[in-house]
Amino acid sequence: MSIVAPPILRTVADLRDRIAQWRREGARIGLIPTMGALHEGHLTLVRRALEAGECAVVSIFVNPTQFGPNEDFGAYPRREADDVAKFAAVGGHLVWAPTVDAMYPGGFATHVAVSGLTDGLCGPFRPGHFQGVATVVAKLLLQVLPDRAYFGQKDYQQLQVVRRMACDLDIPTRIVGVPTVREADGLALSSRNIYLSTDERQAASLLPQVMQETAAAALAGHAPFAELLESARARLAAAGFGPIDYVAICDAERLEPVEDLARPARLFVAARLGKTRLIDNIPIEAPAP
Ligand code: AMP
Repeated sequence: MSIVAPPILRTVADLRDRIAQWRREGARIGLIPTMGALHEGHLTLVRRALEAGECAVVSIFVNPTQFGPNEDFGAYPRREADDVAKFAAVGGHLVWAPTVDAMYPGGFATHVAVSGLTDGLCGPFRPGHFQGVATVVAKLLLQVLPDRAYFGQKDYQQLQVVRRMACDLDIPTRIVGVPTVREADGLALSSRNIYLSTDERQAASLLPQVMQETAAAALAGHAPFAELLESARARLAAAGFGPIDYVAICDAERLEPVEDLARPARLFVAARLGKTRLIDNIPIEAPAP
């Protein structure tokens, strides 16, 4: 089977021409926003668009405005040729890879801030991050005007922020959340996992394990949540994780901490292992029969 190389577009004008042509042909369009360094998690989102019969557009843009001054913007992996090859191999149609200047031309002065949902979890630890995300995703949605846009539950707070933003701004794109793709030992795939040393990678497998056990204990009602979360924190710290930004059980929609399972809830963790910040979350629900 021959693999067709998808075009790589870098200006909004070229992108709009291509999208307009697809629309004239009656195509449906699915957008998968990414920062590149594509892995199986990203490709799963692409496959979801393809399975829905959509022309799959992947955006590859390492967005400077969602990184804090002491974060890894400079070090973030950039490997466009490899990304394009992976995207082509699954049958993706178009790569939207704008330059920073194309995305933020001189004089750029508009920002999208989503309140409430960004107050907790990663919000306080990454000031400005979600404003950077909401602004760039609003732009991507308005540039591509897709029927649907696909986001991973891996970044669950981001998914909820994007849903709120698209709804509040009347952006007529359906936001689709896709379950987290994991390694065999349960570690969530992430472009940042390449920062982990061999020893850290081995230690990292404790994270999904502690999360599963904590979620199961919460479900079984073994102890108050505060106690379970403290014990999860202690186990992670003992294995070399730290600082641990949060271990929390929150309402799955509002993302506020909860003390019982009256409504759907999820367990959220953010912790550093060496210089790598890992985040993950899982639903707290009985396993499917
Ligand atoms: P990123 O390139 O890290 O900004 O991620 C781009 C998109 O891929 C986001 O919607 C992420 O939530 C999603 N994603 C990243 N890792 C995974 C994963 N392990 N499983 C599912 N989706 C993921």
